[in-house]
Amino acid sequence: MTARTELSDEALSDLTRRGYSRRGIGKVLSLFAVAPALGSALAAPAVAQEAKGMVMIGANECWTGPLAPGAAAAAAAIATGNRYTGAQREAFAKAVASVEGVPPSHVMAWPGSSDPMARIIVTYCSPTRGLVVANPTFELAESVARYMGVKVAKVPLKADYGHDVKAMLAADPNAGVYYICTPNNPSATLTSLPDVEWLIANKPAGSIVLLDEAYIHFSEARPGAYLAAQDKEVIVLRTFSKLFGMAGMRLGATIARPDLMAKTMRYDGLMASYALPNPSLVCGTASLTEAGLIKARRDEMIAVRSKTLALLDKRGIEHLPAEANFFMVDWKKPAKEVQAAFARESIAIGRSWPIWPTRSRITVGSATEMAAFDAAVVKLNL
Ligand code: PLP
Repeated sequence: MTARTELSDEALSDLTRRGYSRRGIGKVLSLFAVAPALGSALAAPAVAQEAKGMVMIGANECWTGPLAPGAAAAAAAIATGNRYTGAQREAFAKAVASVEGVPPSHVMAWPGSSDPMARIIVTYCSPTRGLVVANPTFELAESVARYMGVKVAKVPLKADYGHDVKAMLAADPNAGVYYICTPNNPSATLTSLPDVEWLIANKPAGSIVLLDEAYIHFSEARPGAYLAAQDKEVIVLRTFSKLFGMAGMRLGATIARPDLMAKTMRYDGLMASYALPNPSLVCGTASLTEAGLIKARRDEMIAVRSKTLALLDKRGIEHLPAEANFFMVDWKKPAKEVQAAFARESIAIGRSWPIWPTRSRITVGSATEMAAFDAAVVKLNL
């Protein structure tokens, strides 16, 4: 992403009005240049795992690449790579809109979901309007907020591992963003739509419920796009990095009332980053209408996951219920040690979270990869 060095007068006075200091404004500018770096800093452990021959089940990626129709469309688009994007982005928005039942005006394409997430935090949080997240959850929203000097409230998940929306509102009744990740990374558990609706109905005016549905296609739960179609103050975040196997191709979408996203684009003027690679756009467009292939991929993941979870159950190893392509295992001993033991078996499992130091997140890989994981569980006598 390229950042301009100057903000418009309108953007500048908006930031000043919302309580940002000169230093904070400098950070807004630099954030748009470093947001991808923030994202890749979080992904660094995964990159480090790319050692040859490792079974990589630590970074919640899909075990395989794009769906065949998407890959074919992307390959064909390379031949017309001399042309700037335009029609492809519109076609993408229309396809998302038809699948999700929202107007095309409510859909925007992005290079993954990290970029819009960073913008949404900058736009709706400030030194006087905080961020509320679950604990544990995906950390990018919190990282951006901390970088900007925004107050962050972290609220433990409920006993059923859904977000505790009432406690989240109570933790900061005047927050700028309430971040709900469902299925949640790393717990792989869902937050019910009635709970999300309650938060939208009770949150302060002008704030946003940011509904991150990165893993929704791996679940059979109803998606939350209908909330955006009702023009509520909610922004739904989607990525093609997970079930669609496009993490390295960078494609995501926001689904929201158009003015909510327009507000996030005023700090970076004439951003060049809004042009997206055609192969990624056409790959996403050709993939997301393939309901049969999406279901087949989800079913394949569920079958592989069930087999491994059955082994863990048989051995009396505790794990959370899983609604995504990963699950949380409680080893009842330091997860870092267990991760190191798996690494010695050439298996890169996921990390732990500070609130859960004895639990590791395991990504569901291919049947072969999970057979290797299962064998290591037995070998390591876990
Ligand atoms: N949201 C969640 C919950 C994630 O787990 C991730 C990545 O792991 C992202 C968003 C960002 O992914 P991307 O920028 O590839 O869309």
